[in-house]
Amino acid sequence: MHPFALILFVELRYNLPMQRKIVRFPNPVLKKKAKSVKRVTPEIVTLIYDMIETMHTAPGVGLAAPQVGVSLRVIVADIGQGPIALVNPKILKKGGKQAFMEGCLSLPGVEAPVTRASKVIVQGMDNSGKINKIEAEGLLATVLQHEIDHLDGKVFIDRVEDPSTIKHMAFEAEKKEELI
Ligand SMILES: [Zn+2]
Repeated sequence: MHPFALILFVELRYNLPMQRKIVRFPNPVLKKKAKSVKRVTPEIVTLIYDMIETMHTAPGVGLAAPQVGVSLRVIVADIGQGPIALVNPKILKKGGKQAFMEGCLSLPGVEAPVTRASKVIVQGMDNSGKINKIEAEGLLATVLQHEIDHLDGKVFIDRVEDPSTIKHMAFEAEKKEELI
């Protein structure tokens, strides 16, 4: 083998994205305000790729760094149009209203309708440290707002107006078993 080929092989193996463990509610990291990222270092890039891998495997449409136990302002999303990563995301503009039935990888089995802005403009750094502006509407707008909430220590059930609309699948399955 050519020595360069060996180096490349080691490099590729080293950079292979790894699935990380998803932290579940009510872990305190999900209640904490995450810290801003000063610079997109190789560690941040690794975190981004690991988060994308974790989100795709789950599967989910979005993931915030606190959900893998890292209290930093990093989010990823993929609604089927390819992954997006944003470091230090900030909502510059929002408008309109929409309600989506939301769920969360940190609250498995829980679903509830949440009303959020239907259009957002979000700014953040991408995985090369470049400032990126994303205009989103529909599902992507909801996903980005849900993930940015995680960075501020909020989960989607905090945004539910009527608690009686929260569906707990595991609980309902248990109840059914009890009835049988
Ligand atoms: Zn979530």
